[in-house]
Amino acid sequence: MARIIVLMGPQGAGKGTQGQMLAERLNVPAVATGDMLREIGRSDTPLGRQVKQIQDAGQLVSDEVLAEMIKERLSRIDCARGCILDGFPRTLPQAKLLDEITKQGNLDLFVVNIQVPRDQLWKRLTGRAMCSHCGTIYNSYFKPSKQTNVCDLDGHALYTRADDNEDAIARRLAAYDAMTGPVLDYYSSEGRLRDVDGAAPPEEVNRSLEEAISGFGA
Ligand SMILES: [Zn+2]
Repeated sequence: MARIIVLMGPQGAGKGTQGQMLAERLNVPAVATGDMLREIGRSDTPLGRQVKQIQDAGQLVSDEVLAEMIKERLSRIDCARGCILDGFPRTLPQAKLLDEITKQGNLDLFVVNIQVPRDQLWKRLTGRAMCSHCGTIYNSYFKPSKQTNVCDLDGHALYTRADDNEDAIARRLAAYDAMTGPVLDYYSSEGRLRDVDGAAPPEEVNRSLEEAISGFGA
């Protein structure tokens, strides 16, 4: 039976990196809803035109449209053995839609939550700076440049993205807690959630993830 592995965790928890590593190891695609939306918005299909229209109007794609997209994506041949899902569900109604999809498609659903202590997450996100020239990413807490705000490699200035400022980060984390907390409670109450310590180095986190998944009896 194909298994859908949902990775949960706030921005900065390393879902993208972990999803890619896990996908390679399990030889299944990593499906990130953000990428999927961008791709579908460019495609000349009824759904693509609908998504583009919604995005052009500056609106959010509805849960039903998202669910339809995911259903279509999961039906493709490369998902025959399952996939890693990142970015869905974010809310409880989305979690219930995903349950319907997996039930209809006779798919197993595993949910893993990558946990990072909030103070470490905060440092990961607020300490980020990127070289304006070569794109090297620094972190003032974990990977500081030798000279403040200057790239070690080429001497160009480092900059922080506008949406990486502290207010914006605090807002995003609060929104994540408010929306996704109920999703975690929902999966947890049904015994479908495994927690993984995301504070460790990426390779270790990946090992814990694989252990958590094999713990589902797959
Ligand atoms: Zn540089």
